[in-house]
Amino acid sequence: MDYLPAFHDIRGRLCLVVGGGEVAARKAGVLREAGARLRVVAPEIEPELAGLPGVEAVVARFAPHHLEGAVLVVAATSDREVNRQVSELAGERNVPVNVVDDPELCSFIMPSILDRSPLMVAFSSGGGSPVLTRLLRGVLETVIPQNYSRLAAFAVRFRELVKERVTSPPKRRILWEKVLDGAVAERVLAGDDSAAEAMLRQLLAGEDNTLTGEVYLVGAGPGDPDLLTFRALRLMQKADVVVYDNLVAMAIVDLTRRDAQRIFVGKQRANHTLRQEEINALLVRLAGEGKRVVRLKGGDPFIFGRGGEEIEALAAHDIPFQVVPGITAAAGVASYAGIPLTHRDHAQSCLFVTGHLKDGTMNLDWDALARPNQTVVVYMGLHGLATLCGELVRHGMPATTPVAIVQQGTTQNQRVITGTLATLPAIAEREKPRAPTLTIVGGVVTLHDKLSWFHPQAVGK
Ligand code: SAH
Repeated sequence: MDYLPAFHDIRGRLCLVVGGGEVAARKAGVLREAGARLRVVAPEIEPELAGLPGVEAVVARFAPHHLEGAVLVVAATSDREVNRQVSELAGERNVPVNVVDDPELCSFIMPSILDRSPLMVAFSSGGGSPVLTRLLRGVLETVIPQNYSRLAAFAVRFRELVKERVTSPPKRRILWEKVLDGAVAERVLAGDDSAAEAMLRQLLAGEDNTLTGEVYLVGAGPGDPDLLTFRALRLMQKADVVVYDNLVAMAIVDLTRRDAQRIFVGKQRANHTLRQEEINALLVRLAGEGKRVVRLKGGDPFIFGRGGEEIEALAAHDIPFQVVPGITAAAGVASYAGIPLTHRDHAQSCLFVTGHLKDGTMNLDWDALARPNQTVVVYMGLHGLATLCGELVRHGMPATTPVAIVQQGTTQNQRVITGTLATLPAIAEREKPRAPTLTIVGGVVTLHDKLSWFHPQAVGK
């Protein structure tokens, strides 16, 4: 180990920053965040730095007396001689000193920080490769949720109480593990501190109600696993059971916990493996058994996903749940097809509709759909494509209006088939695109030729 990592309490203490430029300002910012009082010394000091509240700005060349009273020193001038002098003088006084980008002159180095105060993670490559530490920090940023601050604060808040109630240290550790990795933590992360507190208090009273299960209704996006959100991935890796349907790519299901039970409730048009009510009942039952259930839905759970009905059933049974939005097919598929849905030259608005056939007809507000300067995205549209195109023309949309069908968008099987309201039904008949497909109607479709960027064949299996 080349350095001893340590966390310094500098609240209200005087720190000296030598230098008045951008780098000095950045370092001063970090010191201020940690609550330091600052003295900044330089012949010229950037106004944003000099003007900060609580900053003593000394417009002068550095002189030894500027070190008076400082508990920590940062030198950030572009003059190596000045930096060296600061370093030497601080060293003589045993005051920790950091010289930016000059490890030789440092008695301490500033790490790259991941701040979830009171939880802090600091990284360092010993000054060797700041880029590497930054990359590493990026990785951790994705796996440590932003709201871990809340969780850490929660733990701090109840630390004394727990210590008082659970006197044996090993038992206390077990309790904290249960709290910080279980249902209590999920409540805190979802923003419901009072439910979390009630659970914790019950745990302390010896009643374990953290065994009640919960359901995470998670949007899995349109197909490409990279389009999952951080939260989706975290909950997927936590759940005991995953309930998914056929819109969710296997590559995504595979990202759930290895030993999680998998239940397929695939839904295909007119061939529902489980009826909606049965799915609702299944979720209620699994959570009732104390399981953490992730309900994975294609795209976004609230957009033509019947997610609302599923959580209504959960709410009726007092089962805790949370909803994680996903990238809906319209957004994901259009992006990957190079079709900007509201490009200013073509559209002022965008409608999402479902072309579901009920009794063989499509019950849509055709006059509204046929208006100019808008984009219409049709979910589940293919089997009614001819009806869709015909009705739009009948309600006044020019037959030359461009239309695209995107097959299995964002995946390696993505295919974009374009035509017009007049020609597309016959083209689709010939090309036979495979489900799921999304239909996009409007001038924006013409941009596909120019803006297409995604190469599905380059996506590995
Ligand atoms: N909740 C989902 C939509 C469910 S409805 C969402 O937000 O995306 C199912 C329809 O979504 C499909 O019939 C199809 O029209 C569309 N869809 C979903 N994923 C798709 C994909 N990868 N490519 C094309 N269309 C897709």
